[in-house]
Amino acid sequence: MNPSQSKTALVVGAGIAGASVCYALSKQNIKTILLEQESSAAEKASGNPIGVVYPFLTKHKTLESEFSLLAYQYFLELWESLDLGKRVPHVDGIHFLLDSTSAYDRYSHSLHSHHIPETLACLSKEPNSNLDALLFPKGKAVSPVFLTKELIRIANPMEHYNSKLISWEVNEENGNLICHTEKEILYVDYLFLAQGYQFVMDPKLQWIPMKQVRGQIVRIPSSIFQNQFSILYGDYLTAEIGGERVLGASFDEFHLEEETRQKETFDLWNGLQTKLPNLLPNWKEIEIQNFGTRVSFRTQSQDRHPVVGKLPNHSLLDTSVKYQNLFRKNAKTFQIPYYETVGILNGLGSRGLTHALLAAEILVCDLLSQKLEISDTIKKALKPDRFLLRKWKRDELT
Ligand SMILES: Cc1cc2nc3c(=O)[nH]c(=O)nc-3n(C[C@H](O)[C@H](O)[C@H](O)COP(=O)(O)OP(=O)(O)OC[C@H]3O[C@@H](n4cnc5c(N)ncnc54)[C@H](O)[C@@H]3O)c2cc1C
Repeated sequence: MNPSQSKTALVVGAGIAGASVCYALSKQNIKTILLEQESSAAEKASGNPIGVVYPFLTKHKTLESEFSLLAYQYFLELWESLDLGKRVPHVDGIHFLLDSTSAYDRYSHSLHSHHIPETLACLSKEPNSNLDALLFPKGKAVSPVFLTKELIRIANPMEHYNSKLISWEVNEENGNLICHTEKEILYVDYLFLAQGYQFVMDPKLQWIPMKQVRGQIVRIPSSIFQNQFSILYGDYLTAEIGGERVLGASFDEFHLEEETRQKETFDLWNGLQTKLPNLLPNWKEIEIQNFGTRVSFRTQSQDRHPVVGKLPNHSLLDTSVKYQNLFRKNAKTFQIPYYETVGILNGLGSRGLTHALLAAEILVCDLLSQKLEISDTIKKALKPDRFLLRKWKRDELT
């Protein structure tokens, strides 16, 4: 028996990140408890009615684009092997408009520089506008709520809802983790933190430069538009799922109120009309102020890349080691101390649905010291350590 199989893990947060961690843990046969403060899964950032799944690409390969493409391919593999399409409402096909010379240049090059096969992405025309577009034939509009719940169903953890993690600490005697919820104390071997924007409530995470970002979408009755595929043009209009389409999204990292902003609904609508005037013959007749909206909050790290890995123990840092002294004779080396059995998956930005499954696999393999065929450079670029190293170089560690 694998020694980790007699261990217990606690996953905090039942959004797409926590659900993906539960799935990765289930493959390792680790007993898992999923803790969620709300009464069910996917009520926060992962609770939008429709989201889009497609990779982030750059003209030339970057660590971000390589990770994103791998994550997209991993998502599609699991989509097939777990037969997710059976239970998760979705529509295949995304047109990403290339309506400027620079966009065309960037994305047409990206197909070559990333060796992307035609089955994943190809140049095409968006039929409503006849504009150049990158077509992701297997890109998806999905229900994030169903996707999150389906991953949890497959992983089958013990689910504790209406249960909030208040604090946690390491038992110095045996290395176990003591986790205090509002209702009970849980003693576990591993802790996976996937609290989304509420990471700020955890004092051991506050050093990580992540922001809470407000996002607003508009819910449009599906009959108003006829587009079969989702269309991305900076903002996006999704294909139809469950009788509606989503027009999204406006983001704001400075003002974080929960109330709808009517102006943003109008701005999104006007933006769509400007980009795709042929979508409707009668734009003026539509009373968009009557459409539903949803406001939710996602996280974004300082470099906009996810935060995935073993959690550094910020309080044990030796701040006397200066970067400037590094090359001096007998200089002390800078070591990052870790909580060895605590991992974080956060900072998923605006591509959480595409990135969470691979990020969770990387995280679980890292904590369980399992090998995973992904380059160390990609894994390193995701680790929270990068922020400590940056602060150290800038002499900002206190
Ligand atoms: C408007 C908008 C549109 C978006 N559109 C897309 C899209 O089209 N495609 C895409 O890929 N991504 C999209 N995103 C991004 C995506 O939704 C997020 O990246 C993703 O949902 C984040 O998932 P998460 O699990 O990290 O966070 P969440 O879904 O917020 O989950 C965190 C969970 O942790 C729980 N929690 C927090 N603290 C505690 C605690 N102490 N104890 C117990 N439970 C706790 C919360 O209640 C919550 O359920 C969008 C985001 C927004 C805001």
